[in-house]
Amino acid sequence: MPMLTPPSCPACPDSQPLWKDITQITERMPDNWFWYCANCKRLWRPSAEHKELFTHGPSGRSSGSVQCDPRVSRD
Ligand SMILES: [Zn+2]
Repeated sequence: MPMLTPPSCPACPDSQPLWKDITQITERMPDNWFWYCANCKRLWRPSAEHKELFTHGPSGRSSGSVQCDPRVSRD
């Protein structure tokens, strides 16, 4: 699985990659997270693309895959 690179801060020209602030995440809102810049202490709303990518990963699904479910019978 390729590593996802977080974006850098739009306000800081030479900033480190942004942190993913997951303190607002709840069970019902798993994508309620923000980018956090440790340099200027600002929170940034991720784009829809980033939400998709960084919430679920590049494969689009979490671990705990259905395809390995041993209960599925084979005909
Ligand atoms: Zn910044």
